[in-house]
Amino acid sequence: MKTEFSLAQLADPDIAEADKILRACVHCGFCTATCPTYVLLGDELDSPRGRIYLIKEMLEKNRPPTQEVVKHIDRCLSCLACMTTCPSGVNYMHLVDQARARIEKDYTRPLTERALRAVLAWVLPRPGLFRLSMMLARLGRPLAALLPGSEVGSVSPTLSRRIKAMLALAPRSLPAPGAAGGRVFPPLGPRRGRVALLQGCAQQVLAPRINQAAINVLTRHGIEVVLVKDEQCCGALTHHLGRDGDALARARANISVWLKEAEQDGLDAILVTTSGCGTVIKDYGFMLREDRDFAGPAAKVSALAKDITEYLSGIDLRRQLQQHGDIVVAYHSACSLQHGQKITQAPKELLSKNGFVVKDVPESHLCCGSAGTYNILQPDIASRLRDRKVANIATVKPDMIAAGNIGCMVQIAGGTSVPVVHTIELLDWATGGPRPGLS
Ligand code: SF4
Ligand code: SF4
Repeated sequence: MKTEFSLAQLADPDIAEADKILRACVHCGFCTATCPTYVLLGDELDSPRGRIYLIKEMLEKNRPPTQEVVKHIDRCLSCLACMTTCPSGVNYMHLVDQARARIEKDYTRPLTERALRAVLAWVLPRPGLFRLSMMLARLGRPLAALLPGSEVGSVSPTLSRRIKAMLALAPRSLPAPGAAGGRVFPPLGPRRGRVALLQGCAQQVLAPRINQAAINVLTRHGIEVVLVKDEQCCGALTHHLGRDGDALARARANISVWLKEAEQDGLDAILVTTSGCGTVIKDYGFMLREDRDFAGPAAKVSALAKDITEYLSGIDLRRQLQQHGDIVVAYHSACSLQHGQKITQAPKELLSKNGFVVKDVPESHLCCGSAGTYNILQPDIASRLRDRKVANIATVKPDMIAAGNIGCMVQIAGGTSVPVVHTIELLDWATGGPRPGLS
């Protein structure tokens, strides 16, 4: 794609990057076929190619974002299916991230929307506040029925529709908090390695059992696990809301504490059980590439970051003799894992090797609609995608559904009675831990 940035514009490293990405696009349109919003809405402006044109216009002409641009960028899930499909290697992720940051800086949203986004950006990365908000949401759940829904086919959600979606996502009960930062879990037997485990923010409130399962599997196989003290939310949530100042501050804080830990006691890896977070941590090196003090350390952290299944693929897991061989598991491939990190086989192979009958889900490239805060901000598109995902899952008649991302787990569980568990919970069970999905 031909671009017409001026030399002055190209002096800005972000614009130079956008220029490089835009020039790679040959506007072939292959990406449209796998884009969930294009598949649902059929509008070219809700396809990757359409959005690329909108972003090009905005950046090239240095125009403030228009309402039209914001509408179509907001509808993008950042699922990155387009990146998997693109034959030209267009880095849509870095382009849309830049567009979101520009919108956040230069576009004034209606007051109610600004307030909602500010609340999400403040509450979600803070587990204490998130826990409190979930308790309040639980009390507010009966009110959800009184709030008006959307017209059939609506893709322009009202505030009440978004609040309704938020209340619907609140769990009926909350588990007790998991282990706190600063704890070290020694290996059972001789130490073969030492890793940090990302504590996460929403996940540690909604499902601390996931990281507990990871700790069980790792320590059982000789890996010491540390929950690094003073670690923060990875910044993914605010990054996807375009609030880069907040996201980068969190990235810098995490880099500092992780590398301090690595220097003191050594770290073979920083493990992540929430693939949405893993994708962003693996991108810290890019996000901080222009930061004189943090570019090198950020690249180091990105190289250390691994999805839990990526790491466990290098370990010979000791399967316990258990009678679970006939359990059919539908493996839901989270977008951040399959498209963001290109991890497609490792989770399925680990599950198969450990005795589960693993089934691929039809249309597995299509997002379930969770996408960070998307299911709150775009609840109607999100619920259509969830229903489509759940219907596809049902065709393989699973006993359980496994996924590697808490956002997907909550989203899919909202549409099915089949237990939805994390891949690591099944691996914990297979190697001597408790059976998941019973609580
Ligand atoms: S598939 Fe790639 S090159 Fe083709 S239009 Fe989409 S982004 Fe551009
Ligand atoms: S990230 Fe997903 S929703 Fe956004 S343009 Fe690409 S395929 Fe479509």
